[in-house]
Amino acid sequence: MKADFMKKVLSLLMVFSIMAASFIIPVAFASSVNEETTISKEDEEKIENIRDQQAALEDKIKETEDKLNALKGDIAKQEAYVSELTGQIDNYQSKIDVLNKNISSLQGNIDSVQSQINTLDKEIESIEADINHNQIETINTQQEIEDVYSDLKERLCEIYMYGSASTVEMLLGCENFSSFLILLELTSGIAENDSAMIDTLNDRIAQIAVLTEEYNLMIEDIEVKKDEHKKQIAVLEEKQSEIEASRSELQASQDKITDLQSTAMNKLDSLDKQSDAYKKLVKKYEDEQAAFDREIEKILANASHGSGDVETVEDGFIWPLQYSDVYISSYFGGRNDPITGKYKTHYAVDTCCWSGTLGKNVSAAASGTVITATRHSMYGYYVIIDHGNGIATLYAHNSKLLVSEGQKVKQGQTISYAGATGYVKGAHVHFEVRVNGQKVNPLNYVSLNSR
Ligand SMILES: [Zn+2]
Repeated sequence: MKADFMKKVLSLLMVFSIMAASFIIPVAFASSVNEETTISKEDEEKIENIRDQQAALEDKIKETEDKLNALKGDIAKQEAYVSELTGQIDNYQSKIDVLNKNISSLQGNIDSVQSQINTLDKEIESIEADINHNQIETINTQQEIEDVYSDLKERLCEIYMYGSASTVEMLLGCENFSSFLILLELTSGIAENDSAMIDTLNDRIAQIAVLTEEYNLMIEDIEVKKDEHKKQIAVLEEKQSEIEASRSELQASQDKITDLQSTAMNKLDSLDKQSDAYKKLVKKYEDEQAAFDREIEKILANASHGSGDVETVEDGFIWPLQYSDVYISSYFGGRNDPITGKYKTHYAVDTCCWSGTLGKNVSAAASGTVITATRHSMYGYYVIIDHGNGIATLYAHNSKLLVSEGQKVKQGQTISYAGATGYVKGAHVHFEVRVNGQKVNPLNYVSLNSR
């Protein structure tokens, strides 16, 4: 019992939903019956005028794009030039690097020889200190000899004052100091120690003189070595300064090329800026075109508002691609733009054929009057058909248009061949339905089954 009841409810629901679906089109279209499609002469002139301005903009866009393409060539040349100069600079740099290595290795040699010279200098210093020490010792020894003499002098005075006159005369008659000492020793017996001491002291002075001589010879040897080292350093330094000279030549050449490079980069920069300016200009023109499109849409919306043609409406719509392998590639509503990837609302359905869309016949969804058949930067070659009742359909990206403005068309008539003109990634039919100028979901008016 319960199962039967559920079956009944379900079948009732299904009937309702089928009825609802089949009523959508008649209900929507029945809202404004009994009026004629009217585009006033004035509106037609306005639209004509706007189209002329759009065509002028199209020419400007073409012109600017030509300039942009020419600039692209200049930029590519300039970039190639800059990279060639960069290559030359790198080449110079690698040569300079090699020279720098040579210079620093020579510097290493010079430093090592210099440290040997420093060691020799220290040796000389130490020997000179020894010589100095010897000189002091010599002076001291001489002083000691002086002291012995002055002591003798004192004792001689005593002999002179208290001894016999003949002894004094004999001593004064001595020819030299040694015979004086011998005589003094013989007469008084007091000078034997003094004589020995003076001999010892004199021996010491002689020894020191020999040592000093030896030291001086050592210093001479060391000075010879030092001179050899200095000669080595001079040779190394000459080599080094030769290498430094070639390095500065290379650096001068590198500097020249660096100047050329920076000039070229400035030029490239200004070309880039110019290119950006042209791109902005193209964007501006396209915006202006879009604004004109909106203006035309507004005029048409106002013109069609409240007018209608009962017969076409009652027939309902058919799908613009009347092929068995047709499918919807993009639905009405939010989506990521297929070219920029940015989120954007798509106010249409895109439809394609599995067997390929390019060149397929595009059929009028319903009878009506062609109000637009032209080219647009975004839509490519496109057609708008006014069906009355404020309803219009749009077919975009065609490869070829077969109808012209003002022409009456029957439902199912081939109005164009499908293509990929305008802002597209591939061939498809972009199909819009507009109600009083408002873009609405086409699937509320027509389904894939209507073919
Ligand atoms: Zn589309």
